[in-house]
Amino acid sequence: MDLTERFLKYVAVYTHSAKDVKKDPTTERQWDLARILVEDLKEIGCADARVDEWCRVYATCPASPGWEDVPAIGFVAHMDTVVDAPGDNIKPRIVHYEGGDIVLSEGIVTSPKDFPFMDKYIGHDLIVTDGTTLLGADDKAGIAEIMDMVQRFQQHPEIGHRKVAICFTPDEEVGRGPLHFDYEGFGAKMGYTVDGGALGGVCYETFNAANGVITIKGFNIHPGSAKNKMKNAVKIAARFITMLPDAESPEHTEGFEGYYHVGDIEGSESGARMHIIVRDHDRAKFEARKAFVHNLVDYLNSVYGEGTVTLELEDVYYNMKEMILPHMELIDNAMKAMESVGATPRIEAARGGTDGATFSYGGMPCPNLSTGGENAHGVKEFASINDMKKMVDVLQYIACSRE
Ligand SMILES: [Zn+2]
Repeated sequence: MDLTERFLKYVAVYTHSAKDVKKDPTTERQWDLARILVEDLKEIGCADARVDEWCRVYATCPASPGWEDVPAIGFVAHMDTVVDAPGDNIKPRIVHYEGGDIVLSEGIVTSPKDFPFMDKYIGHDLIVTDGTTLLGADDKAGIAEIMDMVQRFQQHPEIGHRKVAICFTPDEEVGRGPLHFDYEGFGAKMGYTVDGGALGGVCYETFNAANGVITIKGFNIHPGSAKNKMKNAVKIAARFITMLPDAESPEHTEGFEGYYHVGDIEGSESGARMHIIVRDHDRAKFEARKAFVHNLVDYLNSVYGEGTVTLELEDVYYNMKEMILPHMELIDNAMKAMESVGATPRIEAARGGTDGATFSYGGMPCPNLSTGGENAHGVKEFASINDMKKMVDVLQYIACSRE
């Protein structure tokens, strides 16, 4: 099976995960792909391929003779697709891109006007959707590339490589991918997630993240006799929001800029509740941001009375950079691998978390690599066959490195 056939085979399997479901996997349908992958892994020489009770697929590809002493390397990709767009009945199509608009279906186009980076794909074979569903390159491109590399090792035993450990997780899109991960049984002490976008991306920074709930206790009384008595929780909530620096919000920040974000609010005069998230790549700034939010709460309590506003703010994940810095050979190697295929390596900072961040804090340093997919999480998602092929070479370069 070649890379494109394999990719098309996997995107045909419907694997939406589900939000707010507290079981693993969150949807039964992810087993369908897990079972296929176990069979396919066995076919390409991974005799130990297995799926565990939580739908995590594991396999190893043993080291070539003479490579047994080189530390094993892991590759991780996810099987689920995001619920932000329909994910079943995908009708992929291969387009040889020569510039201009790609008509996905009537009235739905992928246009360089919306996506100026399209120019770099002129001359590529792109796999696109019909404009009504996801493609699922996020992250079946990653899966197909890892599988294609292993198949190449089976077909070409003369290519010497270290031991490669593989895991395909369910539920990455809902933050449950790293749960139950078998760090001992996986077979490698460091690895990469293959779950990024355009060719060349290497990511080892994520946000530091805290999520919080703010509860405001008001006091309601008939508006006609409210003078000096009513404490309007809705107004206190509004006051809190306006005290956050507006320029430091998701809609006004990018790159390494952190933010505060109140994403919802509900309430009445007698009580209000809102959710706040705090994000920053820099740990010291992150701590300062959390302290600022606590200060606002203290200030409002000094104005409206102790106990009016309560805040529960919890750290949810940290920037994986701290865990990667002692293992910068992972980054150096990835950069060299990108250069070896003629790609310009790009260090990217995720404005979010990655499963690799959780793996890194769990004891397996795990930066993220590109896949050659673009426009993830929407109906204009596409993948470049040319760049996916290059990614297989990138993975091979890393697996065939003694560093
Ligand atoms: Zn992904």
